[in-house]
Amino acid sequence: MSGRRPVVYPDTTAPLRDRTREALADDSLAANLRAAGASWGTARARISAENPFAQMRDRAREIRRGDIGDLPELLDRLEERVRAAGGVVTRAADADAACRYITDLAAARGATLVAKSKSMATEEIKLNEAIEESGLRVVETDLGEWILQLAGQHPSHIVAPAVHLNKEQVRQVLMAESGWELPTDREALVAHARTRLREVFASADIGISGVNFGVAETGTICVVENEGNARLVTALPRIHVAVMGMERVVRDWDEAAHILQILPMAAIGDDAAGYVNLITGPRAPGEADGPEELHLVILDGGRSALLGTDLEEALDCIRCGACLYSCPMWRSVGGQAYGSPYSGPIGSVLTPLLEGMEGERSSELPFMSSLCGSCHDACPVGIPLHDLLVRVRARVTTTAHRRDRARFRLWSRAWSSPGAYRLSVAAARIGLRLVGRRGWARRLPGPGAEWTSQRDLPTRWPPTPPR
Ligand code: SF4
Repeated sequence: MSGRRPVVYPDTTAPLRDRTREALADDSLAANLRAAGASWGTARARISAENPFAQMRDRAREIRRGDIGDLPELLDRLEERVRAAGGVVTRAADADAACRYITDLAAARGATLVAKSKSMATEEIKLNEAIEESGLRVVETDLGEWILQLAGQHPSHIVAPAVHLNKEQVRQVLMAESGWELPTDREALVAHARTRLREVFASADIGISGVNFGVAETGTICVVENEGNARLVTALPRIHVAVMGMERVVRDWDEAAHILQILPMAAIGDDAAGYVNLITGPRAPGEADGPEELHLVILDGGRSALLGTDLEEALDCIRCGACLYSCPMWRSVGGQAYGSPYSGPIGSVLTPLLEGMEGERSSELPFMSSLCGSCHDACPVGIPLHDLLVRVRARVTTTAHRRDRARFRLWSRAWSSPGAYRLSVAAARIGLRLVGRRGWARRLPGPGAEWTSQRDLPTRWPPTPPR
């Protein structure tokens, strides 16, 4: 175990400005993100060239707009069909209700070990923390998620949760967990993870998965994955709990087929996902495989408040992660700096909408975008993310924004009078001459300090070339 270097992780409780600075200074993070972004970009360009992607996207947008427009009715139908197939459905108004249902169920069934497959909804409700607080053991079985669980981190990408880590950093985490010296090749590390996780699949009492889509027509739950772990999590334990954001419903199999086709194209630049698990009810009498109980937890968590508003299109998201890879901001700092389970452009829209407009994350994340529109171009369901970001910005209020508003109101009032305008310009000119040297102010006091911390200010017009 000699020669081990500690892996340093960003402190997600630090202010956003500090987290982004730290991320920007991390050369290995930059290299990891560059490699991931380039690989996604190449695959996505190839698959887009080989398929009528623009038409497919128009159809996907039409599907999602229609489904969200009929959401209450589709949810009722899904619930009815899941029950008819032998499943149990519960609607959870918020994270607490969802976690309580699952931990109460685990206690009632005498469970001790929970195996999980990747699910952003469970990240959102902090289900792992709730399960551990209730005294049970929970183990993530998606390789990336397991590594992050061991490292005490949240996902940095919707589809590739540990994309910010390289092979050596992953090796360090796995060695710290096992206490063994591990080889450096990728296959050996994956084989090690497989051996450790196999014990969990074999002995878990409850398997928890997310839901990519619930098909209202038949009450079928679709779980898309690339590793096969979700298949084991949903089939081996005697109880399967599926946690679904309430917007993740499609009307019928015609729609489901289209979304299942475009999702891997957008997410990984491939024409099919590794595994598509279609689950209709628990194990029926006479069937050899499957859980004895299936519970579907449908999470609201602030989503229903978006219906009928000018932010409703955020609910169209199929969680492909393409907008993250396409975003220059995410590619520069990675998802960890966002401090939210949802990062990138969709995270900057969703976090304030789901958590409320007050608070550090909600008030700052919508401003973490250059509004270049690349996220909209990448989105397979055509969500106008740059427009949504502007609308969310308009709703966010913070002390700093209130202060800015007061300043601008004062400024506007002063410059509405010609006398006050002339007086303020003359005072500014004198002030700048006093602090400036050779035609440039390099360090202004008070509110001007923010400006000169990034750039110099000319004190004369036209400015002299800086030396
Ligand atoms: S907003 Fe669009 S691109 Fe981003 S994760 Fe959702 S579906 Fe994918």
